[in-house]
Amino acid sequence: MHATATARIIDGVAVSAKIRADCKGRVERLARRGIKPGLAVVLVGSDPASAVYVRNKERACSDVGIRSFRHDFSADVDPETLVATIERLNADPGVDGILVQLPLPPHLSVARVLRTISAEKDVDGFHLYNVGGLVVGDTVFPPCTPYGVVKLLEHEGIRVEGQNVVVVGASNIVGKPMALMLMQRDATVCICHAKTRDLAQFTILADILVVAAGKPNLILPQMVKTGAVVIDVGINRLADGRLVGDVDFEGVRRKASSITPVPGGVGPMTVTMLLVNTITSAERRQAE
Ligand code: NAP
Repeated sequence: MHATATARIIDGVAVSAKIRADCKGRVERLARRGIKPGLAVVLVGSDPASAVYVRNKERACSDVGIRSFRHDFSADVDPETLVATIERLNADPGVDGILVQLPLPPHLSVARVLRTISAEKDVDGFHLYNVGGLVVGDTVFPPCTPYGVVKLLEHEGIRVEGQNVVVVGASNIVGKPMALMLMQRDATVCICHAKTRDLAQFTILADILVVAAGKPNLILPQMVKTGAVVIDVGINRLADGRLVGDVDFEGVRRKASSITPVPGGVGPMTVTMLLVNTITSAERRQAE
């Protein structure tokens, strides 16, 4: 990799559009066999951000021909009611994927809820079975955000094998699966988190730097190797209403070879990979 005056901007909207066109083709092929993929979307409470995410997911489903079934519950829903609903959806042949929008209110056990979703319909990839699959390199449903990052890198023709990858953030939904997926592709991976001492001494070594911490301006130009590929997963709403990532975009784009913007980078890919996983589930079930 070599330095350029300003980085190539990785267009997540354009890559998403290509993958969604492919999704439509797969849905049409299923339709010829009388199958219409279905996604159940479970929303608990009235968190405005969650409501927006859920609406975007429903809209994306309808764009490619996936049916979505919405199940709304009040924030004080009884855990048994929620679990019983998921069990019903597990048994429903019209449902190929079940998505429970996170976060959940504190009285609900996320672990229990995620464990209740059948591994066969776990299109978010959070069930322990799918997490285990990720560890041994044999996952059915990769979690959508890191899966989206892998697809972005593929579409951009960015080699992963043998590269030094630094992942900033170690959450179960982004950082950890991201690191596993890139290790599976033969990168040398380092994971940093909030207790990492001197973050910059690690990030400066990255050929590919993936940042998912939820901290605006965490990554400054002096922390980035010249010519690195920088993937910004962060989504932060500033006090003035602007949406920004975790990377100082204007500074870092002068050092990186490629960089994802926020918005318009990883975000659109996350929803797209949910569609991909739901269609994959329908195809698998149809093949049974
Ligand atoms: P999370 O559960 O809050 O995890 C954040 C991770 O970052 C934790 O591992 C934390 O370390 C680490 N971290 C926090 N501050 C740090 C610092 N100063 N230096 C190094 N590491 C630090 O968040 P998440 O769910 O993974 O999401 C991360 C960001 O990605 C958020 O902005 C979220 O909105 C965004 N996101 C975007 C998409 C998308 O589609 N683009 C999807 C999901 C999430 P500890 O483990 O030590 O606490």
